Amino acid sequence: MSFQSLGLSAPILKAISKKGYETPSPIQAKAIPPVLDGKDVLASAQTGTGKTAGFTLPLLHLLSKEDAHRRRNVRALILTPTRELAAQIYANVKDYSEFLDIRSAVIFGGVNQKPQVSNLKRGIDVLVATPGRLLDLESQGLLSLKDVEIFVLDEADRMLDMGFLRDIERVMKLIPSKRQNLMFSATFSKDIKKLAYSILNNPVQVEA
Ligand code: AMP
Repeated sequence: MSFQSLGLSAPILKAISKKGYETPSPIQAKAIPPVLDGKDVLASAQTGTGKTAGFTLPLLHLLSKEDAHRRRNVRALILTPTRELAAQIYANVKDYSEFLDIRSAVIFGGVNQKPQVSNLKRGIDVLVATPGRLLDLESQGLLSLKDVEIFVLDEADRMLDMGFLRDIERVMKLIPSKRQNLMFSATFSKDIKKLAYSILNNPVQVEA
């Protein structure tokens, strides 16, 4: 199994090889093909399995395939529970999109919103966000989620543990109902399954 055989584009393969990755991890090998096919995916994966690249690489591939990417609004939204995770995912998005014409940004709470807001004004393709700051900036009219095509819910179990269910539900109301959804969780409680059922549409299930 190689990254090339998964069907990722040349600029993405170039970024992967610059990172020094030789072969896809199991979760990447299983998750990337259905995401590239436009399917919803429910993945069981812990941190450290390479799950971030598992959703980021195919997401970037899909976004970069479209010509009409001079829209100002966010096209892929990655929701994650903590600012540390948000910063990590954003660093990955930056690395993997180095050779693509894709703009990305990260927003999280606990810091001044000004630098984050001025970034958003340039127009963003991929937004990595924690729920509170996302809803806050949206309610101030500083970003729109009405053109989101791909929605990623990362670390869904931690989201629920941290009490973000209501916020997730609010976000779901702000994004189009026709979209591709990817959900990652390390554990699958009854509540997680319920959340998955409410968000995902006929998902392909994969395990690390
Ligand atoms: P994650 O589980 O997404 O937090 O990734 C864990 C670590 O594995 C990160 O430092 C990645 O840069 C690295 N990584 C991800 N995919 C691969 C791969 N296919 N080969 C080698 N390292 C990888």
